[in-house]
Amino acid sequence: MQTDQGNAVPGMDSADNGQWHGGLERELTATAAWSRMLAGNHRFAEGKAEHPWQDRETRESLIDVQTPDAAVLSCSDSRVPPEIIFDEGLGDLFTIRSAGQTLDDAVVSSIEFALNALHVSLIVVLGHQNCGAVAAAVKELETLDHACDSDSIIVRSVGASVEQARQAELDTPQDFERVHVARTIEELVSRSQDIRRALAQEKVMIVGARYKLTTGNVEVLSF
Ligand SMILES: [Zn+2]
Repeated sequence: MQTDQGNAVPGMDSADNGQWHGGLERELTATAAWSRMLAGNHRFAEGKAEHPWQDRETRESLIDVQTPDAAVLSCSDSRVPPEIIFDEGLGDLFTIRSAGQTLDDAVVSSIEFALNALHVSLIVVLGHQNCGAVAAAVKELETLDHACDSDSIIVRSVGASVEQARQAELDTPQDFERVHVARTIEELVSRSQDIRRALAQEKVMIVGARYKLTTGNVEVLSF
């Protein structure tokens, strides 16, 4: 858990009240948070999870404040709960989940809340192996001219990533999953002025990653 930030007012940018670190310090904070998450994932994958910060004292210390290290956008897949696979605890991760980590206004607004009100320095976009949303998009594309013709927001989103991968002559499920993470980050940045501003001011770092069900490890795609 971070311990150096106060109880922020939702929606209020505290850039002028001294709570923001400088760009370099924010980058170091983000890098340290990501390192902790990867260390937790390593423990989890090795079967040595510590299940930190899940005791009564931690719960009671968080009643009036939360200072999560990171916002994590992941697939809703029941096998990919971020707190478990990164071996994190209460108050550590602000998680947003949707099938195929698909973006909509609520998802984007939730990430902006983590950025503006909770001052996370790190946003993680997490795809995964054997993603059912990717498989469903691939299947539906067999009968559609274009992903954008689908009635499903998930198929339109993930299908556009599949189409982009195929244009680059990438044609395996893992290719689709990786391209979808990269395209989701691009779309997130393009949809959110707040995120673009925070990136320009070096207040936040965005990481792309893919969780592998077979090993329990997280594959870092972009950092
Ligand atoms: Zn999935």
